[in-house]
Amino acid sequence: MHSSARLFNCARCRRQAVICRHCDRGNQYCGSHCARTARTEAQRLAGRRYQLGRQGRFAHASRQQRYRLRQQQKVTHQGSTPVACDDLLICSTGRSPSASPHRPANVQSQIVCHFCRSRAVKFLRLDFLRRP
Ligand SMILES: [Zn+2]
Ligand SMILES: [Zn+2]
Repeated sequence: MHSSARLFNCARCRRQAVICRHCDRGNQYCGSHCARTARTEAQRLAGRRYQLGRQGRFAHASRQQRYRLRQQQKVTHQGSTPVACDDLLICSTGRSPSASPHRPANVQSQIVCHFCRSRAVKFLRLDFLRRP
């Protein structure tokens, strides 16, 4: 039985991975190694965030206050001059993990699921399976 598969970029190592319909559970990682590593990294991050949470909130609050003060000064001193760039706005230009993966242009006819190694793949999807 041939079924479709999904082509995606591993959320951790950014390698292309193919997953067949049978194995697809909305996976984001190319294999069990990346999934496991990502999980431990997430746990470590969560622990660090818990420790720094209080500190971080204070730092953020004071930064917000400084920003607001600066904005007020700009308004009073420069009138209606538009603010082109501010350090708080730069963060939004970072690459998002949901960036579209490469198009499967040069994918050969023989496509193998990276999880079960079966050759039961006829065509590739770039979107997730829709489940009811
Ligand atoms: Zn990976
Ligand atoms: Zn599979």
